[in-house]
Amino acid sequence: MANRKLVAGNWKMHGTADSIAEIVRIAAAVPAGVDVALCLPATLIERAARAVPGFAIGGQDVHGEAKGAFTGDLAAHQLHDAGARLVIVGHSERRDGHRESDGQVRAKAISAMAAALDVILCVGESFAEREAGRAVATVSAQLDASLPPAAPDAVAYEPIWAIGTGRIPSLEDIGEMHSALRGRLVALYGEAGVAVRLLYGGSVKPSNAAEIFGVADVDGALVGGASLTAADFLPIVVAAANS
Ligand code: PEP
Repeated sequence: MANRKLVAGNWKMHGTADSIAEIVRIAAAVPAGVDVALCLPATLIERAARAVPGFAIGGQDVHGEAKGAFTGDLAAHQLHDAGARLVIVGHSERRDGHRESDGQVRAKAISAMAAALDVILCVGESFAEREAGRAVATVSAQLDASLPPAAPDAVAYEPIWAIGTGRIPSLEDIGEMHSALRGRLVALYGEAGVAVRLLYGGSVKPSNAAEIFGVADVDGALVGGASLTAADFLPIVVAAANS
């Protein structure tokens, strides 16, 4: 049986108090048959969780330690306390911009799951790696080194060169990668690896969502820019619900 699809928005460093109205608009229009979440800046998590009870609000990063002297960081239990139900770990903007290693991403996933947060663990190759024919090998190695001992809720395949650029891999390339990742997940977790939701992320829009959701082993999407407004995000959610 296919996994229930998950469409998660990643708001990155966007949104202030006046964005709550947009979050309410999105939460109010979610159709049946699909899971939807918004991963918000930390400053909005508690306000959003109160504004849309029952709708999944998430964080975008978490520290690998449960507590300690880590100025500016957030622990998993603090995110949970603020009302988050899930968190993204290993986004390429963290791996590249903050030099996060696979080991740190793994520690973050473990820490989040210990605090009862669902995890979306991101992996993805650079354009040079894809051009060199090393995309599947690179992403598989990244996955192996980043996965926690217990299966996370979701893994997001996000080619770095597709994020925010308007470019996406061919549907064949997405299918090839998702099939390879499914193989690794099953090898590591057995049956539980079948239930890990494999999201595609990178320039998903209303115009390309349906065809991406039609690819085997695509169980949803991680959406950046197009998740900021109900007008862009809801058609993607509907495409997932109808797929
Ligand atoms: C992302 O940030 O995870 C992402 C996929 O961004 P975008 O949809 O804007 O490419």
